[in-house]
Amino acid sequence: MLNDDQLLRFSRQILLAEWDIDAQEKLSSSRVLMIGMGGLGCPAAMSLARAGLGFLRIIDFDTVDESNLQRQTLFNTQDIGQPKVLAAQKSLKDINPWIEIDAIQDRVDAKNLPSLLTHIDLVLDGSDNFATRDAVNKACVDAKVPLLSAAAIGFEGQMTLILPDHACYRCLFQDAPDEDDRRCADTGVLATTTAVMGAMQAHMALLFLGMGITSLSERLLLWDGLACSQRQIRYQKDPTCPVCSAKNT
Ligand SMILES: [Zn+2]
Repeated sequence: MLNDDQLLRFSRQILLAEWDIDAQEKLSSSRVLMIGMGGLGCPAAMSLARAGLGFLRIIDFDTVDESNLQRQTLFNTQDIGQPKVLAAQKSLKDINPWIEIDAIQDRVDAKNLPSLLTHIDLVLDGSDNFATRDAVNKACVDAKVPLLSAAAIGFEGQMTLILPDHACYRCLFQDAPDEDDRRCADTGVLATTTAVMGAMQAHMALLFLGMGITSLSERLLLWDGLACSQRQIRYQKDPTCPVCSAKNT
C-alpha cells in the first residue's frame, strides 16, 4: 500500500486514466534487474526510480571515468574513480528514498546470471556488446524471465522485448551484428542518443510492469536520431534457434 507522501509524489501518474493507483502499486511491488550502469542504464534506472519502482538490482564491474560523464546521467564529477554501482545507488536513493537498490560490482556472465535473475520480474539489458546480450538472453529464456534489450551507438538505437516462449534475441540476431565492434568507446555516441534510448527503455518497462503492455514482443524498434524517426521490424521465432527452440528446452 502506498503512503500519503507516495500518493502525492506519484500523483501526476495516478491521475492518468490508463495508469491509475493499481498500476502504481504494481510498479512499487515490481523487481527489475538492470544489466550495466552506462549510457542506457543510468537514464533508464533514473526514470524507473522517479516513477516509483520498488526494487532495482544493478550490476556493473566498472568505476566512473571522466569520459562517462557526458552521457551517464547518474554520475557527477566527484564520482570519478568510484564504483559505478555505488555512485548509482546513492543517486537513485537521493531521487527516491523508498526504492530498494541491490548494488553488485561484478561482471555479468553465464555463471552468475541465474542467481541475478532470482525473483526478478523484468530484466533491462543496457550492456555494450553482443556476447553479454547473448548470455543475458539465454539466461532469461532458460529462467523464463522477460527481457527488454536495448542498444545505442552514434545517432541510432534499437530495442526489443523478449517474452518467455516467444522469439528471442538469438532468433533475431544469429551472430554478432556487423556494427557490434562499434562500441561507444571506439566510435562515439551523442549524449542524447543514450538519453533517448534509456528513457524509451524505462518507458516500455513502465508499460509492461504497470499495464501489462507487450507491444514490442517480436518487434525490433529502430530509432534514427539524425532523421528523428523510428520504425519497427517484425521477427519470428526461429524453429532452429539454438537458444529457444523446443528441442533444446
Ligand atoms: Zn530464439
